[in-house]
Amino acid sequence: AAKLQEEVSHIRQLLKAADMEFTIETSQEMNDIPLLVENVLSMCLKEAVTNVVKHSQATFCKVAIQQLPNGWQIVVEDNGRGIGQDTASLGGHGLKGMRERLEFVNGSLKVESKAGTEICIRVPNPVQ
Ligand code: ATP
Ligand code: MG
Repeated sequence: AAKLQEEVSHIRQLLKAADMEFTIETSQEMNDIPLLVENVLSMCLKEAVTNVVKHSQATFCKVAIQQLPNGWQIVVEDNGRGIGQDTASLGGHGLKGMRERLEFVNGSLKVESKAGTEICIRVPNPVQ
């Protein structure tokens, strides 16, 4: 999963440059990801973390990239100001673009606002 690894080092740079505390967890086994899924996951990871840096005013960001029994999941959490309830009405292209690309791979995007914002991206494994 070279592309995803590359994106992980990119977001590490981004978060460092923003002077934010962060943790990035990745499963040991991130093998056999179809290229299309890997591309979509990489794009979503980049956009979610860019949004944290641009919009959240957070001091902490937690990223978890996991291989699930039946797919893949990325969770990006921050402790910032939170996101509006109706994310569909928010102006930008980022969240919309994530949703559109995730549709191609039967994935889903969940956005929650609690103490900050939590973005959960899931893509099922088409082989299972
Ligand atoms: P673009 O992604 O097109 O450059 P954008 O980042 O403003 O523009 P989206 O990525 O779609 O657009 O995000 C929509 C809006 O949701 C943002 O403008 C911001 O108000 C809010 N938002 C997104 N992520 C966060 C976050 N982590 N914390 C707080 N607000 C957020
Ligand atoms: Mg954005």
